Amino acid sequence: METAKSAQLFAAAKQYIPGGVNSPVRACRSVGCDPVFIERAKGVHIWDVDGNEYLDFVCSWGPMILGHANPLILKAITEAAAQGTSFGASTPREIELASMVVDAVPSVEKVRFVNSGTEATMSAIRLARGYTGKKVVVKFDGCYHGHADSFLVKAGSGLITLGIPGSPGVPEDIVKNTVSIPYNNPEVLEKTLRDPALDIACVIIEPVAGNMGCVPPAEGFLALLRQLTSELGIVLIFDEVITGFRLAYGGAQQYFGITPDLTCLGKIIGGGLPVGAYGGKAEIMNCIAPDGPVYQAGTLSGNPLAMAAGIATLKQLQQDNFYDELNSKSAEFAATLSEIAERTGIPVTLNRVGSLMTGFFTSEPVTDFDSAMLADTKRYACHYQQMLASGINVAPSQFEVMFVSAAHSAKDLGKAAEMTEWSFKKMSA
Ligand code: PLP
Repeated sequence: METAKSAQLFAAAKQYIPGGVNSPVRACRSVGCDPVFIERAKGVHIWDVDGNEYLDFVCSWGPMILGHANPLILKAITEAAAQGTSFGASTPREIELASMVVDAVPSVEKVRFVNSGTEATMSAIRLARGYTGKKVVVKFDGCYHGHADSFLVKAGSGLITLGIPGSPGVPEDIVKNTVSIPYNNPEVLEKTLRDPALDIACVIIEPVAGNMGCVPPAEGFLALLRQLTSELGIVLIFDEVITGFRLAYGGAQQYFGITPDLTCLGKIIGGGLPVGAYGGKAEIMNCIAPDGPVYQAGTLSGNPLAMAAGIATLKQLQQDNFYDELNSKSAEFAATLSEIAERTGIPVTLNRVGSLMTGFFTSEPVTDFDSAMLADTKRYACHYQQMLASGINVAPSQFEVMFVSAAHSAKDLGKAAEMTEWSFKKMSA
């Protein structure tokens, strides 16, 4: 595979940008190779600057549920751009997208748009603290909620991939108010939430963990979480930045039938443009400025291009059977991958919920952060490099998910399965 132009660009990027990238996982360090630079994308295909074509399963880490350069989204963005790109004032599109989110997501009565998933989660915990007058945030090991200080405690993929347990620059005084407990452990959950010494404002969870690889909630875990937080007056926050509009139109909360108090969104609701949102019960949301005292603002929040892209995306997700089709073709694809692993004698635990999946290179079940860490990352690095060379773009980290989009055809999934078999056979030889 020719990568001379990418290599040249990476060398240039490193002169000007730390590590040559604007988000660490893009440097591909954990898979032991340099990144390719992307020139363009269409549907499920992306092309790098050297002209190599790949079938894409990263999908911009989730937003591209309709594939790249979707014509209706491009049209909406172009029309919006022609009217001006930002005004720092309210526009009709904000109401249209807000009402679509309120109609779709069971917990959301009011919603505030921000510019990223990080801003959504950061603002949601500030709101929970302001509303309850309490300090402590409970999160789960291996869940990632963006890079705000309070969350950089046992925080999933990016940090695992780099081998950093937390981050320098995050004051002890801040993380002492974050308690991180194991995912899927009902005993520790109950003991922590009932601990009278903890002044708990909120619990934040990825209802399907996506940032230690795909880890589904154990049967009854989310229901227990809902029951305990309701009983104890703790605000329950679902971080649906990945799962929102991905597992079902109403997100993981619709998929599992568990309604949190607040929900964080991002990725899909921006159709590939920078966006985030947090929403929930009106009683809590009314605490945000200017109605209430909890401050949160943004120069570009509710940006007209992002709103237009979000509206155009959500309209297409409303098609009949959209999620049934996406989830059932993903289920078939996952079953094929498991079968290939078995046939080729490569130990793989394949976790899947809807169109999110991870093949962990381990024979043990993966149910939490510790079991995810048993996966063979060297083997994943080898698999990644082989897949890329054969024209399949999967995540450059074992601890991320593979995203299937509506644009992936049976033929595309068949090709990815064929190349997976080739890669596994090569590893088992
Ligand atoms: N929450 C979850 C579950 C995420 O997966 C991410 C990013 O991948 C974030 C929050 C942060 O979103 P952003 O990268 O847009 O800041």
